[in-house]
Amino acid sequence: MENAILEQIKNEEADMFKLVEKMVNIDSGYDCPEGVSEVAHIIGNFLTKLDFKVEYLETANEPVQILATRPQVGKKKVMLMGHMDTVFPKGTAAVRPFHIEEGIAYGPGVMDMKSGIAIGLYTLKALIDNKWNDTDLTVFFVGDEEINHPKTNAIENFKKYGKGMDAVFNMEPGRADGEVVTGRKGLWRPKIKVEGIAAHSGNEPEKGASAIIELAYKSIDVTNLTDFTTGTTYNVGVFNGGRLANIIADEALAKLDVRFKTIEEADKAKENVKKILSKTYVPRTKTTLIDEGVIDYMPPFEETESGLKLYEFLRKEAKKLGQPPLGRLYVGGSSDAGYTTMVGAPTICSMGPKSVGAHSNNEYAYIESYVPRAQLLAMAIMHLEEM
Ligand SMILES: [Zn+2]
Repeated sequence: MENAILEQIKNEEADMFKLVEKMVNIDSGYDCPEGVSEVAHIIGNFLTKLDFKVEYLETANEPVQILATRPQVGKKKVMLMGHMDTVFPKGTAAVRPFHIEEGIAYGPGVMDMKSGIAIGLYTLKALIDNKWNDTDLTVFFVGDEEINHPKTNAIENFKKYGKGMDAVFNMEPGRADGEVVTGRKGLWRPKIKVEGIAAHSGNEPEKGASAIIELAYKSIDVTNLTDFTTGTTYNVGVFNGGRLANIIADEALAKLDVRFKTIEEADKAKENVKKILSKTYVPRTKTTLIDEGVIDYMPPFEETESGLKLYEFLRKEAKKLGQPPLGRLYVGGSSDAGYTTMVGAPTICSMGPKSVGAHSNNEYAYIESYVPRAQLLAMAIMHLEEM
């Protein structure tokens, strides 16, 4: 059966690219929830034929999520996850539609992450067409990952459906050399606002209280919190203040970007920033932390023992297939893999194809990597008992 499954994946390569083409040519950025819905229905129709129970989870006025399940009592539980949205606005697909040139696939979202979706679907098809019923399968794709799920319950759902899984594969794009990602930093992006008192800098400077000076001191203090040994970093990336040279500045605003490897470090970072802001350098200034919560926060995808065990297992399966050594990376950018990890599910991110240039007009994916990736995923699902 195993050979038949691997063989079918190879034989259906052209169909897999047709599916990628169909999805890439549908705009599904944040301005296009109807595009997300169209993609969701393509996925839903595909999985319905494979005997999945398909549900479209609606959130009022927000992009749909798709949940597909194929329960098998007592078997290992595997979830494929990801997102159907892209960062590209309406009209992009018409300007640069899907195409393949010299072994490379192009088009909006081809890398991030419509190819990963197609790889997942054709893997499941090969398994099920060949009567593989020894895995309890779940597929969960959301429609607002690129904007951090501001208004849907995607985060709760990742935790809900991820809980109890024996393995979760996030179908985000693989890295340039085909590496998977086993850990990602989380991020927090608050703003710091300082209000001061304006005064004429020539006539009566003593009446003023400079918001710029206050914020400058605090920016330095915050930046000094950076600790490369724990990997927690603080960056004041934007700093604005004042209106004219002859006015003591009565307002200043900084945008902060904090990155951390663990939830514990995230909590510590928040405490530390608040402590610094509670201090006053320039009397009569007032400092406020503007924290927009979920929009500007992503939890880390923590490297866990069970996650690394899943990676080791995957590496062995890749070797069995005669694939080049499967590398792994820890990266600074965040993804939804953090949520399934938080509830204890061993999670591997970046199971999609070998690709380059996410979020840019130059994103592309190497077409020779699709079949090997699908075969690796199939092997991992079939042999999970051996992990
Ligand atoms: Zn992505």
